[in-house]
Amino acid sequence: MTSQADHDALTSSAYAQALEVIGAVEPRIAEATRAELADQRASLKLIASENYASPAVLMTMGTWFSDKYAEGTVGHRFYAGCQNVDTVESIAAEHARELFGAEYAYVQPHSGIDANLVAFWSILAHRVEGPWLQKAGLRGVNDLTEADWEALRRELGNQRLLGMSLDAGGHLTHGFRPNISGKMFHQNQYGTDPETGLLDYDALAAKAREFKPLVLVAGYSAYPRRVNFAKVREIADEVGATLMVDMAHFAGLVAGKVFTGDEDPVPHAHVVTTTTHKSLRGPRGGMVLATEEYAPSVDRGCPMVLGGPLSHVMAAKAVALAEAKQESFRTYAQQVADNAQSLAAGFTSRGAHLVTGGTDNHLVLLDVSSYGLTGRQAESALLEAGVVTNRNSVPADPNGAWYTSGIRFGTPALTTRGFGHDEFDTVADLVVQVLSSTQPGTTKAGGPSKASYVLGDGVADKVKAASAEMLDKHPLYPGLDLA
Ligand code: PLP
Repeated sequence: MTSQADHDALTSSAYAQALEVIGAVEPRIAEATRAELADQRASLKLIASENYASPAVLMTMGTWFSDKYAEGTVGHRFYAGCQNVDTVESIAAEHARELFGAEYAYVQPHSGIDANLVAFWSILAHRVEGPWLQKAGLRGVNDLTEADWEALRRELGNQRLLGMSLDAGGHLTHGFRPNISGKMFHQNQYGTDPETGLLDYDALAAKAREFKPLVLVAGYSAYPRRVNFAKVREIADEVGATLMVDMAHFAGLVAGKVFTGDEDPVPHAHVVTTTTHKSLRGPRGGMVLATEEYAPSVDRGCPMVLGGPLSHVMAAKAVALAEAKQESFRTYAQQVADNAQSLAAGFTSRGAHLVTGGTDNHLVLLDVSSYGLTGRQAESALLEAGVVTNRNSVPADPNGAWYTSGIRFGTPALTTRGFGHDEFDTVADLVVQVLSSTQPGTTKAGGPSKASYVLGDGVADKVKAASAEMLDKHPLYPGLDLA
């Protein structure tokens, strides 16, 4: 067993040497890598979809597994020599099944979008293609004539998907028109209650009854509340829909047992998709969990919509999932949720307006229109002061999806650095200082601008100094010294 000091020294020397090796080939990349660490260390990272993976997870991605092709599934590959990839994929899937209590786990998707594509096409394969082939008396797609293809394609392209609208907090892949999900399906969207900003289950049920979707998608990117997935499953069952939950944002809270019972999507959904790099704190990637019923079609992710899996990332997923099984991850996940409450309370006590009035997950959505700003202006002013966030639509946003009226804040990253209640209260104070000191700017022609802004003199420096004090007390990768 190595001591923490030994472990830190090992990590520092491994990275220092790796950067030397990289620098010998392309010094500018080694330099940019060092600069990225310095920037991440020096900024208040409040982007709800970002985190800091452990050095073990990061290092796992930098190996020769990157070089191996392994299309197919464990034990059934289209390439020779995949025995070690089989090992890492099996371990990652085993951890995922155990951690989430899932009947089946598919760890190949390269990202959240890929995981959703796998899910959509698995559902179409299971619910549409399979029964259609059976009815036509055909064994598989290889038996189709040109006329059969035409008919099957029409059938596959004529299905309905109901998802949460983007301005209510849903994701692009949940049926947003510019995304493929809004084109390959007849799509319809549900929103939130205009008064409370909360998910209205009765309105969702009414829409589902009227629209009769094949796929009902729950899950979100910017909804600051928990969802009762048992209720959503009841709605799906009533209308004969497959329930797909995209837990990309809150997978860490599910893994850490903050969301249990009706708030845990895994026992209620037919198919659950996720990213592995947000609150789950793993490598960038995606994953699909499914019931036994959907497992065979999900297993066909490659070749259905995926090519060769990223074996090095699957290995890193296994390491991250092993970390998420530890007791300390539960403490972390609870702290993420507690910190979001502290941040929300800090904003509210300083007069800021929050969508839904607060939070009970890991994110807070601040409506910046009361400061006379667009989300774009607020995001830029905050960045100038070293506060990294992203602008986001609010329900029925008058400024649309580009300029927006909101700023989304998330607690997973700074919680990884060890921030607690007091620090998040200070964060709220700093953010409010910036927003109250920012004025909308003008266009070159002198008209009102939705993008330019003017931040009061000295505010950025003052906020950066206050942030630096907190960040210094909670260093990122504390033992990592590249000097
Ligand atoms: N699903 C949800 C709910 C998300 O918030 C995101 C990313 O922000 C994704 C899917 C897509 O993930 P990725 O960027 O890994 O494709």
